[in-house]
Amino acid sequence: MSRQQAKRVVGNWKMHGRLAENAALLQSVAQGAATLQGGVQVGVCVPSPYLAQAQTLLSGTRVGYGVQDVSAYTHGAYTGEVAAEMAVEFGATLAIVGHSERRAYHRESAEVVAAKTQRALHARLTPIVCIGETLEEREAGTTEQVIGAQLDAVLAVLSVAESARIVVAYEPVWAIGTGRSATAEQAQEVHAFLRGRLAAKGAAVADVPLLYGGSVKPENAEELFRQKDIDGGLIGGASLKSTDFLAICEAA
Ligand code: PGA
Repeated sequence: MSRQQAKRVVGNWKMHGRLAENAALLQSVAQGAATLQGGVQVGVCVPSPYLAQAQTLLSGTRVGYGVQDVSAYTHGAYTGEVAAEMAVEFGATLAIVGHSERRAYHRESAEVVAAKTQRALHARLTPIVCIGETLEEREAGTTEQVIGAQLDAVLAVLSVAESARIVVAYEPVWAIGTGRSATAEQAQEVHAFLRGRLAAKGAAVADVPLLYGGSVKPENAEELFRQKDIDGGLIGGASLKSTDFLAICEAA
């Protein structure tokens, strides 16, 4: 199997930003991305009210954009939800699904995450499916069991062709926003496990891009991205500063 695909670096702004600061950030990311060497694919997932702003400032640039969540439904009486189709109307191509903050604070079950992944695919968004273990789960030696089950719940509702269109982000919960990244070896070990799990679904699924997320910074990006089964990163805090985000893109 070829592991030569272009790396991907996607920013997850979470609930940060306001119009004025977004404009400066989006413009400098677009400008900086234009000069990046190599084929790195760059994206940002913004809070959904700012999709129109992303569309205005990123259309025609090298930077893709998207949302941080989608509804499991297409339309209807779901107050506060945003449908994948709505994001697509603003030119979005990406949707994070199953981020650990949504699993923890919004009680999203594995089944809900699977349904959201399906919805994103049907709307022709690329879902970035987040999975990861807590510190207690890692210390109990259950990392593979936990993330294997999270991944399996998604793959179970998708065909092989659909599964081949997802992106998976391994984000250990203990590394998110803590400044404590997994080491490159720890991340590679988990990614190799996930690669095997994907391959078991079908040969076409083995090359699904596997991003690492959790305290990626300019200082540790290069070593993480050099690992065989790490195809890029999902970047939280460091995506809010264009110089840091671009330095991470540069490392990819
Ligand atoms: P972090 O967040 O880079 O700030 O650790 C990553 C994420 O939650 O996607």
